[in-house]
Amino acid sequence: MSLDTASLREADRRFVWHPFTQMRSWCAESQVVIAAGEGCELIDTDGKRYLDGVSSLWANLHGHRHPRLDAAVADQAGKISHGTMLGLANVPATELAERLVGLAPGRLQKVFYAGDGACAVEIAVKMAFEYWSLRGETGRDLFLKLDEAYHGDTIGAVSVGGIDLFHRIFGPLLFPTIAAPTPNAYRRPHDLTPEGYEELATAAMESAVAEHARRLAAVVIEPRIQAAAGMLTHPPGYLRRVREACDRHDVLLIVDEVATGFGRTGPMFSCEAEGVEPDLMTLGKGLTGGYLTLSAVLASDGVYDAFLGEPDEGRTFYHGHTYTGNPLAAAVALANLDVFEEESVLGGLAPKVEAMRRGLAERVAPHPHAGDVRQLGMMAGIELVADRASKDPFPVSRQVGNRICARAVEHGVIMRPLGDILVLMPPLATSIEQIERLVEVTGVCIDEELG
Ligand code: PMP
Repeated sequence: MSLDTASLREADRRFVWHPFTQMRSWCAESQVVIAAGEGCELIDTDGKRYLDGVSSLWANLHGHRHPRLDAAVADQAGKISHGTMLGLANVPATELAERLVGLAPGRLQKVFYAGDGACAVEIAVKMAFEYWSLRGETGRDLFLKLDEAYHGDTIGAVSVGGIDLFHRIFGPLLFPTIAAPTPNAYRRPHDLTPEGYEELATAAMESAVAEHARRLAAVVIEPRIQAAAGMLTHPPGYLRRVREACDRHDVLLIVDEVATGFGRTGPMFSCEAEGVEPDLMTLGKGLTGGYLTLSAVLASDGVYDAFLGEPDEGRTFYHGHTYTGNPLAAAVALANLDVFEEESVLGGLAPKVEAMRRGLAERVAPHPHAGDVRQLGMMAGIELVADRASKDPFPVSRQVGNRICARAVEHGVIMRPLGDILVLMPPLATSIEQIERLVEVTGVCIDEELG
């Protein structure tokens, strides 16, 4: 196959169906074809460089072509790239489980592997459901989620999601859930203060847990920020109150750290910031530093022990994938954790987070169409609105978010919006200068598009 850009574009249009993409629009446009990466930059087939402003879909942490991670892949490939975990253990998956248990909140003592974030959520949901059944409580068939929740695209993950645009069509296939209001106050009713709304949303979650306690298998939640909902930050203390409600009413808590895990919000795992220990925790994306597809569910001993029994007792968790615990992915995940230690990654985050905060406050927030600017750690969202006072959105047909991100490509920055919410989520390794450039280009493109 030729490596020239034109023929690659042509082949892509002819043969590839892209995720989350209206292919008619895609095929009508001239697309960037990435050939390589280096540090926090992507390099296209013509040699043009772009800042990776969304960490290659919120996955990359330490940059591309990191020598430590590259070496881990090569080294493991020199031993074995894949072996099944059905009936066999393997070296890196075993070592990784031990390391993850050492890092995670104390209650989480067992690691179950999968490939993608959605699979991890699917597994956690199945584990929670079966846990209650094994304890003789067969009526625990409901999950509580937040409005606008997003946990991935398999049917179980979609069931515990709530983004209408993605999920409405699959309604007839989904299992029923209870939804509590998202506690982010930006789109609160007019007659409420932000604090008043946050308290109301928190109380609504608490009473939903109380009301449905006997039927709830688990509460499923992203900790402290709902990323795909548009970087909807939660008020401090909300997650803690979810944990307390679950404890009061004997309901499991599933915390989805697929997007927030591995330092994105500041601490290694977002739930640590509130001292919350979930019963089940899902990991993905950054688990391998953004190199290979690997996800995991971390489970408490309480959950795990319920599945123990004799082979004929029906307590086996019948779930697994061909690539569960893939050694190549596990080896690079181990190297990812090494880099966190060797480069003191978490310790170096504060000035970067501050550079992003300052840049957004000075360069972006004053724009008359910047309705709300939200940030937690290295995750930020800029909600663009047609009218700041009324918070009215732009018509979908204007494609404001997509058009701004297309302009950013011209300026050498890769971004991807969520509707008209611009997302900045660069690798943790992004330098302060690169963060300043990312914010500046964002501001320039908003100005160019919206005046
Ligand atoms: N959970 C959360 C919180 C996510 O943000 C995502 C993906 N953006 C997923 C689960 C699904 O992960 P994956 O795309 O790897 O299936």
